[in-house]
Amino acid sequence: MSNFNGLMVEANLIGGRWVGSDAGGTINVINPATGEVIGTVPNGGTDETNRAIAAANAAFPDWSKSNLMTRVTLLHSLHDALMDNQEDLAQLLTAEQGKPIFEARGEIAIGAAYIRWFAEEIRRAKGEIVPAPTADRRLLVTHHPVGVVAAITPWNFPSSMLARKLGPALAAGCTVVAKPATATPYSGLVWGKLCEDVGFPAGVVNIVTGSARQVGGAIMDSPDVRKVTFTGSTEVGKTLIRQSADTVKKVSMELGGNAPFIVFDDADVDAAIEGAMIAKFRNMGQTCVCTNRFYVQAGIHDAFVAKLKEAVAALVVGNGAEDGVQQGPLIDDGAVTKVEELISDAKSKGGNVVQGGKRHGNGGTFFEPTIITGATDDMQFATDEIFGPLAAVFKFDDEAEAIEAANATEYGLAAYAYTRDLGRTFRLNDGLDYGLIGINSGLITTVEAPFGGLKESGMGKEGGSQGLDDYLETKYMCVAGLSS
Ligand code: ADP
Repeated sequence: MSNFNGLMVEANLIGGRWVGSDAGGTINVINPATGEVIGTVPNGGTDETNRAIAAANAAFPDWSKSNLMTRVTLLHSLHDALMDNQEDLAQLLTAEQGKPIFEARGEIAIGAAYIRWFAEEIRRAKGEIVPAPTADRRLLVTHHPVGVVAAITPWNFPSSMLARKLGPALAAGCTVVAKPATATPYSGLVWGKLCEDVGFPAGVVNIVTGSARQVGGAIMDSPDVRKVTFTGSTEVGKTLIRQSADTVKKVSMELGGNAPFIVFDDADVDAAIEGAMIAKFRNMGQTCVCTNRFYVQAGIHDAFVAKLKEAVAALVVGNGAEDGVQQGPLIDDGAVTKVEELISDAKSKGGNVVQGGKRHGNGGTFFEPTIITGATDDMQFATDEIFGPLAAVFKFDDEAEAIEAANATEYGLAAYAYTRDLGRTFRLNDGLDYGLIGINSGLITTVEAPFGGLKESGMGKEGGSQGLDDYLETKYMCVAGLSS
């Protein structure tokens, strides 16, 4: 069995030491394309997490006072280490997560890019000198690292979601306790190895795998953890927000989505299909910014559906490790069952399956990329996050109706629209209650821009100049008595 050129680390990193769980328990990690166990990781819990927090706390005074250029240089080295190992890291990611290898390569590259972005941004994280009301005073506004940061990450982007958190935390001078998702721990653990290889001091980055409830519980209980950054489901996010109250932690939350994708009559239909395929089927539909609801205007509806069907039918489904594959397996059987339920619910309410609709002949957790037309608001996928390769197509008549339908959800992460009308573009910007809006593009995430949801999709931004804010405290100092 390959160990991916030494990058598949099967231990936790606590205070600069690679360790197992106290009781020696392990968790199997499964390749969703083959069903085989590719290795094990420690089944850590409360005690291991408390030691990781203590290590991060002990490392904080020195790290937070380290020279800016020490941190910047280490982060650039970390970026380079990622890219030097891009192919092996991509293969490891595909092996534990299932996504096609070309998407995995892209995820490693964007993760590296986030690290480099924050190495650059921290050099511009300026404070302020504010005009004072009286001549004998000077008012200073300064930024300081928040302290120990806990980062809890999901299985759908196990590498880049941690990059968005490690980058700003380490740049700002915070130390970190990370908990990768149990299904995909290796892409998280390897960050620890690469940080160690390039020279981050012991205790600055700590990584614990194991019971979400115990690891999460210890993190939330600890007064030493000053900030929690979480990417995952809205349900777990709400639990963490509640648990943060006792110690008044800062929290940033990247939670679920229910993205609308609106195609107006004046759209370039081929461009809309290209965007639709990326926005719906990337990572087999398992991203929080994936399209959940296609709204297609009546005049272009049939042409759009015909072309979408052609494109979806041509998707190559298989083991993501093989070049040419565009759709891998879903993460686990629960994900498949959920898509099956959504399809049978829609069928029972009059939806038409025009493509796919069932488990794929490959077996396991492979599923046929699916299109349902005639979607209506009473169908479950109108409100629930699909998180699978199922495109639901609703028909609409006018712009106001589309915007109202698009906003009829408690989520507010990503929205997409295809139109060539400039006035409408700005009406959409005002009208859509979403944190990310893509006009004539189905893929808009980039390190330079703030990523984050409105409403129950979360709080806080990752990326952009805003991505540092949550990792820095602001202090105001008044220096008085300056007149002679
Ligand atoms: P998904 O699995 O759909 O990505 P989850 O919200 O279930 O979303 O999981 C995201 C991350 O949160 C994972 O690392 C998971 O282990 C962790 N997690 C799940 N439940 C809890 C919890 N109660 N406390 C802390 N972390 C949790």
